[in-house]
Amino acid sequence: MNRKYRKTVIAGNWKMNKTPSETKEFMTEFKTIMPKGRWCDVALCVPAVCIPAAVRAMRETRVGIGAENCNANASGAYTGEIAANMLVDAGCKYVILGHSERRAMGETNEDVNAKVLTALENGLVPIMCVGESLEQREQGITEEWITMQIKCGLRGVGEDKIRKMVIAYEPIWAIGTGKTATPEQAEEVCESIRTVIRKLYGAKIARAISILYGGSMNEKNAYDLLAQPDIDGGLIGGASLVPEKFVKIIEAANQPTI
Ligand code: PEP
Repeated sequence: MNRKYRKTVIAGNWKMNKTPSETKEFMTEFKTIMPKGRWCDVALCVPAVCIPAAVRAMRETRVGIGAENCNANASGAYTGEIAANMLVDAGCKYVILGHSERRAMGETNEDVNAKVLTALENGLVPIMCVGESLEQREQGITEEWITMQIKCGLRGVGEDKIRKMVIAYEPIWAIGTGKTATPEQAEEVCESIRTVIRKLYGAKIARAISILYGGSMNEKNAYDLLAQPDIDGGLIGGASLVPEKFVKIIEAANQPTI
């Protein structure tokens, strides 16, 4: 990370875990042990039905609540979907877009791009996820694949808006598998993402954008990953479901030595 130029962001992704009652319990415990350090932004992206409970519980804190997806359309006949302005009205600050689990359900780069544009228009901070499969890594096409995901996902995003975004590099083979990318592997890709941003938007913006790593990040490996120069935080699944573990990751991000 590089605190001089960009924000450190520690974001939880609860996926399809926890009920609204369990959300309330988590937040009560989390609030009592939450680190007071001011160096990193903390986000918790929760299932849609848990958003009201999470927002209520975190109202007086610096923790931003987020959603795990949104629809690209403003309103209309999209049964079961949730629009970006609904998330804003419910108190969300962040939205995860293009997570590999949603891409696996058929979401394309074009869909992700449309959602990113809508989220930005509505004032949400999109956490746009990119990442390669194990097969793609073994074929040696990680960089090309991720460059394509970034370029497609950011199509039409202007210089004024890109500054509000967060990008998360999440190798699919490391998500929920306990198999973390080594700090060097994660750094290599995060650095190449910054290079793509530099080519698209220039050095100043590339230097300022926060790029997170996600994929089995936990309280034990967080420090070494976050110590890499181009890793500005983490998107955390499993370990964000347990207050003590999530807090330890935040504490790792707050270490003055990195
Ligand atoms: C995720 O789903 O974004 C993720 C990184 O999950 P986990 O930390 O459980 O691998």
